[in-house]
Amino acid sequence: MIKSVCGYCGVGCGIEFDTSKLVGDISYPTNEGLLCAKGVSELHTIQTSSRLLRPQIKQDGKFTTIDWDTSIKYIASKIKKTNPEKIAFYLSGQLLTEDYYIANKLAKGFINTNNVDTNSRTCMASAVVAHKKAFGVDYVPVSMKDIKKANLLILVGSNAAEAHVVFFNKIKKELKRGLKLVVIDPRVTLTTNAAHLHLQIKVGSDIDFFNLVCQRLINDEKINMDYIEKYTNNFDIYKNKLSREAKTKMLKRTGLSKEQFEEFIQLFYENENIISAWTMGLNQSVQGVDKNLSLINMHLITGKINKAGNGPFSLTGQPNAMGGREVGGLSTTLAVHLDFEPESIKKVEEFWKTSGIKNQRGLTSCEIVDEALKGNIEILIISHTDPIYHLPNRTKVEEAFKNIPLIVEVNAYENSETSPFAHIKLPAAPWGEKDGTQTNMDRTITKQKKVTRTSIDCKPDWEVFKLIAWELGLKDSFNYENVEEIFQEFQEITKISTNQHLDIHKMKEDTFIWGKNLFKDNKYLTTNQKANIHFVKNENLSEKTSKEFPFILLTGRTRDQWHSGTKTAHVDKLKKYKPLEYVEINPNDAKDLEIKNGDMVDVTSARGEITLEAKVTPDVREKTIFIPVSVKKINYLTLDLVDKESFEPDYNHSAVRVKSITRI
Ligand code: SF4
Repeated sequence: MIKSVCGYCGVGCGIEFDTSKLVGDISYPTNEGLLCAKGVSELHTIQTSSRLLRPQIKQDGKFTTIDWDTSIKYIASKIKKTNPEKIAFYLSGQLLTEDYYIANKLAKGFINTNNVDTNSRTCMASAVVAHKKAFGVDYVPVSMKDIKKANLLILVGSNAAEAHVVFFNKIKKELKRGLKLVVIDPRVTLTTNAAHLHLQIKVGSDIDFFNLVCQRLINDEKINMDYIEKYTNNFDIYKNKLSREAKTKMLKRTGLSKEQFEEFIQLFYENENIISAWTMGLNQSVQGVDKNLSLINMHLITGKINKAGNGPFSLTGQPNAMGGREVGGLSTTLAVHLDFEPESIKKVEEFWKTSGIKNQRGLTSCEIVDEALKGNIEILIISHTDPIYHLPNRTKVEEAFKNIPLIVEVNAYENSETSPFAHIKLPAAPWGEKDGTQTNMDRTITKQKKVTRTSIDCKPDWEVFKLIAWELGLKDSFNYENVEEIFQEFQEITKISTNQHLDIHKMKEDTFIWGKNLFKDNKYLTTNQKANIHFVKNENLSEKTSKEFPFILLTGRTRDQWHSGTKTAHVDKLKKYKPLEYVEINPNDAKDLEIKNGDMVDVTSARGEITLEAKVTPDVREKTIFIPVSVKKINYLTLDLVDKESFEPDYNHSAVRVKSITRI
């Protein structure tokens, strides 16, 4: 019996492999034996015909097979000749911690470029920054088992029933026990269908909603003054500024009625233990950090945090998004939660026995695109992710990538949207063909074992980076035989993390939760050990609708598909639930535009146009449409504005128009 962990989402379900099939691991705390359809089908994605199985190089516009030795020598020779500032790495929340660690060490520590970003930038960066601003550290102070102690769960901008299926099954179990569920989402979804109260707020009004709640809590004296005085900073300034916000205006912007808001407030007052959980609805926004902070404020002023069944719970999208944050996979972090202050650089240089680490953060994903357009990126190494598909404003990204002289794509599959833009493709081992470690959304680190042999010419990503390092003459610093050696080194370096809170060096078993009781006695990792309350307000900086583009586009996952479907779209069983490509539009809007269910429609933004089948449904509010992220061309429509602090793109506020082409 081989034990592993699912490689799809942040729930991180334990898996057992018994000769021919995968089953949920009953002894694993996260899923207690449950798996969703994606997890059960994971073996099929290893065996798909779309696997990349040999290194390939592009010659005269066509890919031809080459050997590993030639390709690694070619890449290393180009790195040697290139200014480090013009080299960038783009990593993925699907990499294992060991892959992440080696890539980050090679790039920041030895090539001396801090341009190492990860696709977690596009989903979790706003939560990371908000945690740091409020708590002084990127830390999720809630775990999944806290749901068992909660009386009220508030899900915000999260369709957990489709995106975090097994976690949602746990929620459903708790609903039978008496847990109350409020879902705040502009759409009707499988998740909202299970809620006691669905608040279908207007897109972009989350800050208004939480400010309204906090203002009311203060006015009704339902806050916890003892907690505020002992454990928080800035309350008086916050209270003062919040009192000047007009409640009727805020309520109007949310689109909720007074009765709906009252119903929420009563639920809040009636329930002692409260958890708020969120994902992309808050994070993917030009106001992503502020949206996070407005929610965290609600917990700080009520003291509903750091005790069982309470707190703000950021749900990670990818299986190892958290592991990437621990290692330092974001360009805004150096390593192990250390940033780029001289003291941190010194500690990391001493540990890695290197020198020359740059003292400024590197380029973020959207900045890599901007710099490539200016001709400032000469080498881009992409590992286990598909930026042409997932970065916003795809036409611009394509133009930028055409401007990069060498793009190396390390991938297990050859059908990515990025593939045509690559110059060299290196075949990586996917989930199931490699060992390693990943951290799920509640900081549970688990060892992952391969369930089948590695395909003959494929390599785990860490080994690809090791070979490049060796070719650069860095054998002594990258002399690893296996993932165990890499993980041991990673454990050692966590000893130098700020306040040594990243206690991964204590992990001895196959499963470990880091930072247990980190905020014990409500001591935060800020300068004076108190949490920071930040006043934020809704200053809508995103794209405005207009006569030409009167709709707001919402994007999101659907059950059984994983992002673009590079893996899942090939599994017949997973295609049954929902089609991959469609656009949802409200019946009143459809009527005005003479669109019938099943019509083909053009969806157009200022940046591009795609054609999809219309699904007419009251599940979306008027003047909004929804397109699932399984539509591979979706980012021809999205805008590339980012949050000014987290640099996370705003995937949920693009202005578009819709037009039937069936009835022309
Ligand atoms: Fe995998 Fe997530 Fe499904 Fe669990 S809920 S089986 S981790 S995709």
